Amino acid sequence: MTELSTAATNDSIAAFEAASQSGAADYPGLDTWRSLPINQQPTWADPEVFAASVKELSILPPLVFAGEVDVLRERLAAAAQGKAFLLQGGDCAETFEAATADRISSRVKTILQMAVVLTYGASLPVIKMGRMAGQFAKPRSSNDETRDGVTLPAYRGDIVNGYDFTPESRAHDAGRMLRAYHTSASTLNLIRAFTTGGFADLRLVHQWNKGFTANPAHARYESLAKDIDRAITFMQSCGADFEALRRVEFFASHEALLLDYERALTRIDSRTGFPYDTSSHFLWIGERTRELDHAHIDFLSRVRNPIGVKLGPSTTGDDALRLIDKLDPNREPGRLTFITRMGAGKIRENLPPIVEKVTASGAQVLWVTDPMHGNTVTSKNGYKTRRFDDVMDEVRGFFEVHESLGTFPGGLHVEMTGDDVAECLGGADPIDEAAFEDRYESVCDPRLNHMQSLELAFLVAGSLAK
Ligand code: PEP
Ligand code: MN
Repeated sequence: MTELSTAATNDSIAAFEAASQSGAADYPGLDTWRSLPINQQPTWADPEVFAASVKELSILPPLVFAGEVDVLRERLAAAAQGKAFLLQGGDCAETFEAATADRISSRVKTILQMAVVLTYGASLPVIKMGRMAGQFAKPRSSNDETRDGVTLPAYRGDIVNGYDFTPESRAHDAGRMLRAYHTSASTLNLIRAFTTGGFADLRLVHQWNKGFTANPAHARYESLAKDIDRAITFMQSCGADFEALRRVEFFASHEALLLDYERALTRIDSRTGFPYDTSSHFLWIGERTRELDHAHIDFLSRVRNPIGVKLGPSTTGDDALRLIDKLDPNREPGRLTFITRMGAGKIRENLPPIVEKVTASGAQVLWVTDPMHGNTVTSKNGYKTRRFDDVMDEVRGFFEVHESLGTFPGGLHVEMTGDDVAECLGGADPIDEAAFEDRYESVCDPRLNHMQSLELAFLVAGSLAK
């Protein structure tokens, strides 16, 4: 990667450092992360571009408001207490190119469709959250990628470099942070318009779901679909027509991986005097950057947003307790969500000791399952994929564990899209490996397609209703 680091002049290094320190108002501790070990960060090619980008980001308007972030914390607190369920879904990696009206709306539509089914199944409010409007930075297991004997830096998400396999595209370009900001802003704008402008009316969403059950492959979901239909017809016959049917709350989230960007969008809220990372409502820390004494945990411990942490199969109960002490020292319900991603074969064994330790400590976290990241395999024809049955098996394991321990399985975190892609294997209307050749579009991990996402929602709703 050294070939990408330009020979920076002393002046440009000074500009780099000045920009790094500016950003939002000075607030004690907000820059402590800079002196801590940090993983998975880019090596920006041009310090001057970096300095100018950070400077601009630090004065641009916030993407979300602190008041909305506080509302989300309350909603998540309800979920932590067993009174709501979180549905969080979207691409593994959003791209600038795919931020089109059609694709954004089909993803939002699919999440809303899943949410209706889950609301019925759980008889609880469902908190709707996209892995959207900011999911542009990706951790990678290797710094480089080699193709046909040529080695270039790995793709780290559109906020860092391009997917095209050329030296120019793979250079780490800090100017991309600005494009990520503006793409997030236009995505959020569309989401807000869709979800508050009548598009998301419950009765309309229910009509879309009829398309799913009309497919003969989904006949087994017909009785649940009929129950939902009866409930909605009953409501309509009673003349129910209130605001909550017409508008939905929809929150944004992404992995807070690129700390230069997150820090530059952090603002001090004038109402409370606390720092909020205004790049998104909810931010999570990935499995590869959750070391306790490292930069990511430190930075996120200092903002008021609700925070998630991914917990992989090597997590111990003590790790979880230490994360709670650092990220949720006041034991505030809604502040901390543990997103477990153990793998279908491990969840029933690995999750119980963690949940038991956390419960015994008196902390009240929200438990969410990510049934995707522990179940990635490579197909015979060389694609990164996941089997629908493994995904569903991990979800079932998650519910079983929480049921046996008397804790609440509070949410589902999935990589999904509203489009008819072929990236995950199986489902009732099955996707096979041959379909990958034509319809595999993800630039990172494989997503459930529209039908597979709805099928998952029907299956989960079926388990919740029991
Ligand atoms: C992701 O959510 O895309 C991801 C990389 O997850 P994890 O940190 O759990 O591996
Ligand atoms: Mn992923």
